Amino acid sequence: MKFQIKSIAAAIAFAACSMVHAEELPSVEVLEKVAKEAYAKYKDDQGGKNADYIPALAKVPSELFGVVIVTKNGDVIKVGDVDTPFSIQSCSKVFTMALVMQESGDEVIYDKVNVEPTGEAFNSIQAIEEGDGRADNPFVNAGAIATVSLIKADTAEQRWDKIIKIYEKFAGSQLEVLEDIYTSEAETNFRNRGIAAVLYNSNNLFAEPLMTTDVYTKQCSVGVNAEQLAVMGGTLANDGVNPVTKEKVIDAEHVPKVLSVMMMNGFYDGSGRWAWNAGVPAKTGVGGGIIAVVPNQMAIVGFSPPLDEQGNSVRAQKAIEYIVNALGLSVFGSGK
Ligand code: GLN
Repeated sequence: MKFQIKSIAAAIAFAACSMVHAEELPSVEVLEKVAKEAYAKYKDDQGGKNADYIPALAKVPSELFGVVIVTKNGDVIKVGDVDTPFSIQSCSKVFTMALVMQESGDEVIYDKVNVEPTGEAFNSIQAIEEGDGRADNPFVNAGAIATVSLIKADTAEQRWDKIIKIYEKFAGSQLEVLEDIYTSEAETNFRNRGIAAVLYNSNNLFAEPLMTTDVYTKQCSVGVNAEQLAVMGGTLANDGVNPVTKEKVIDAEHVPKVLSVMMMNGFYDGSGRWAWNAGVPAKTGVGGGIIAVVPNQMAIVGFSPPLDEQGNSVRAQKAIEYIVNALGLSVFGSGK
């Protein structure tokens, strides 16, 4: 009798536990419906404008717009311009941070870069000076350059090789640098070189500054299409295992930390507004991509070049917000 009671209690505890973890994944049909609605609703939105401080980005057609959802089961839902390669830009920062965490542990990021929002623009120098000299968080340019400097490598080639290899595993496909974007940014990235020098001067950059900035510039110029970027996010939604190739890319223990940095800093000084409007961890890039992750469920990617004042794609934000709110996916509760 005693044994029976014990096993019933264990069964109830187990059921309660699995209820907590088994978030109901919407069906593929439902996801297709909302993705199409989001695309139709914002396709003609004329808000924002292409980034032009990197001259090549100003030339990308502004009307491009794609939406992709990748579930943790590996289902792929796509609408619009999902095959056009665009530069990954700051969405890359998520995956280089994950590489460093996998290689050296989460604490290295916490200790040497920090994880605090700056409330300033992504390329702020003032934010570094106002704090303790560290780069503040891995998603502003300072922190992303510092993160690149933390990769264990003896040469620039080794550093780059580790970056591109892990991006390819996250994406489950081969990726190339968009040479026109790389050249354009490398010719104009004086501010980033300045940021690296400021960090190096206070011992908060851990490799040679110009080399590190160049590897960082290259990582930002990696070409991805919306589907590849969504598979990269899907890997984070699936505990570090690529949901399409089934290859393990990072250990599951790093995923909550990666997502926490996305939640707090993914939209720079627009991160509070994003948490309010959408409530899911996400990261933007000035190439027009936004990658959002619904933990343990799916990644949602929007891509469209015109950006708001904080450098975040207008159509992509609106599309992701629409999908998240239609399905009650905010990590803060469905509101239903
Ligand atoms: N490569 C860009 C830069 O360093 C990335 C910025 C971004 O996407 N927000 O300015």
